[in-house]
Amino acid sequence: MSDTLILNADGNPLSVVPLSVISWQTAIRLAYQEKVRVVQDYDDWEVSSPSCTWKVPSIVMCSDFVKWSREVKYNRTNILLRDMFTCQFCGDKPPVGQLTLDHVLPRIHGGKTNWTNIVTACKKCNHDKGSNKKIVPKVMPQKPNYYELCAKRMKFPITVRDKNWLTFLAWPEDNVEFRPPRKGS
Ligand SMILES: [Zn+2]
Repeated sequence: MSDTLILNADGNPLSVVPLSVISWQTAIRLAYQEKVRVVQDYDDWEVSSPSCTWKVPSIVMCSDFVKWSREVKYNRTNILLRDMFTCQFCGDKPPVGQLTLDHVLPRIHGGKTNWTNIVTACKKCNHDKGSNKKIVPKVMPQKPNYYELCAKRMKFPITVRDKNWLTFLAWPEDNVEFRPPRKGS
């Protein structure tokens, strides 16, 4: 995970799902190009070139407001998040590694791999279903919007590099894991 949180010009993270973080090298370059301004440096982390020393930015903010598509990406992580890491057939919540993605209308019957045909399933339900198209989830899957995914994401822990990030994340405090950066130069 990268070390610098990047905010839009309005002070909100550019993205929460996934969290918008960039490498400190990119952060320093963008700050030098005046594309971002530094909101917060790490107190105890500096890097040097032969001619210069910089404090490493922990948080930067875009100089200009960035308009971006709130389209959510179809991928495994976002499917699991939409389904709250819960098997959509039996309601079990096994460890993430044991969750599978299941085609509601099986591929053999022409089922597509997309938001409205893929659900989270435990291994057992996925196996039991096989290519039976009559076994369907309790709730038929839909494409979530960005804000729905964000609201769900906030129910799970987030890892931050710097406690100052929390000022801009509004994350439930008991749901934060603090993992300081490995301060290389
Ligand atoms: Zn199940």
